[in-house]
Amino acid sequence: MSQAAKKDTPEQAEYRAYCRKWIEENRPEEPDFRLPLQAIEVMDEGVKEYLQTWQKKAYDGGLIGVDYPTEYGGGGKSGMQTIANQELAAGDVPYFINVIGLGMCAPTIFHHASEELKRRFIPQILSGEMIWCQGFSEPGAGSDLASCNTSVVKKGDKWIVNGHKVWTSLAHYAGWMIALVRTSNHDKYKGLSFFVLPVQDTKGVTIRPLIKITGETGFNEVIFEDLEVPDSYRLDDVGKGWTVAMTTLTHERGAGTLVGPNTGMSARGATRTQRLLELAKKCRRNGKPAIDDPFIRDRIALVAVWEEGLAQNQRRAKVPGLTDDPMRIPLQGKVSFTELAQLAATVALEIEGQASSLYIADPMAPDSGTWPLTFLNSYGNTIAAGTSEVQRNILGERVLGMAKSK
Ligand SMILES: Cc1cc2nc3c(=O)[nH]c(=O)nc-3n(C[C@H](O)[C@H](O)[C@H](O)COP(=O)(O)OP(=O)(O)OC[C@H]3O[C@@H](n4cnc5c(N)ncnc54)[C@H](O)[C@@H]3O)c2cc1C
Repeated sequence: MSQAAKKDTPEQAEYRAYCRKWIEENRPEEPDFRLPLQAIEVMDEGVKEYLQTWQKKAYDGGLIGVDYPTEYGGGGKSGMQTIANQELAAGDVPYFINVIGLGMCAPTIFHHASEELKRRFIPQILSGEMIWCQGFSEPGAGSDLASCNTSVVKKGDKWIVNGHKVWTSLAHYAGWMIALVRTSNHDKYKGLSFFVLPVQDTKGVTIRPLIKITGETGFNEVIFEDLEVPDSYRLDDVGKGWTVAMTTLTHERGAGTLVGPNTGMSARGATRTQRLLELAKKCRRNGKPAIDDPFIRDRIALVAVWEEGLAQNQRRAKVPGLTDDPMRIPLQGKVSFTELAQLAATVALEIEGQASSLYIADPMAPDSGTWPLTFLNSYGNTIAAGTSEVQRNILGERVLGMAKSK
């Protein structure tokens, strides 16, 4: 029995047993194609449909949106999503495609949208029937997000949107976007507002894919030219965009309470340490199995220590004193998790040696060439959702109380 299961209340234990049984009975068949490492790298219609069907099935089975009220398509069982998440991770099942929708858009809509928008949008996000994306970054606004300059101007009873969003993951499949926009130039922060915007096959919206070093698409540029939207698509008051964006970022960085399940950020099944040990048994270094090399053993031990530290952090995150404001433990999660993934991929390439130059689909590549792809993609994850440098600034200022950076 897992540590988490040992502490279950009778109600939680019953729901956990249900999840476990449901996963065993409804596990999707292994696809005859390679799944990308993460949902944000899906660029094939067949892969998209496979993952959308799986998400809808898990939603209908009651494993997604468990914490949301029933009137918004949720399960109405507050505090239970974590259990479904744990069982989905342990069950070694595929991730869900609507990663941005589940992790960021649904919680933002839940906290800030009108009743009408909540009822309309949250169910379709949870079921995965409508894919959503996040339009925050712009060519001139990344770490300094408040420099965002996509303009939204009132014209009669409509708003007119003009501007350029970039690095918009999954926009190529998304029907809707949550967007941070500028409604006034008087004040950097108070001039921001927040809207939901239609983006697919919409007059006034152009979506252009961006190709990554891995050859995958994943993210896009989204250009708005005189897109007209009604006032009912606004979240919260005009000028409150920054407050709404902070809700989104809290969830994006893993410190929210309504984070969706199984979004593809975590490895399936075996721990990273276990996977590296298996790899080191298969590969050779200096004429002997890599597992016998003291350097490699030392490097795998480092991953093991880090991985265990992160697991302990997740346990510490349940201690109220450590998660009250400032959210000491949850705020560390994004940096630690993405940097651990980067370290593990680096160690895998060290184990593979020359063979690490063999890429996906090369029959001679160890572990089907997954590690070089994981290595390249691991850099994006230390940038997305706030770079490691910016996250460290936040930890320094908010958690350690250090002077604010200029
Ligand atoms: C895989 C991936 C997916 C993404 N998906 C989305 C998405 O769906 N929607 C979206 O809106 N955006 C998305 N982004 C964009 C992401 O949020 C930005 O890339 C990120 O916020 C950094 O902004 P930037 O790229 O403009 O870099 P910059 O802000 O220009 O930073 C450049 C460098 O300067 C450093 N730096 C900047 N300011 C400071 C500071 N104050 N102190 C110390 N160092 C600093 C940074 O750490 C970085 O190394 C995605 C990015 C990636 C890589």
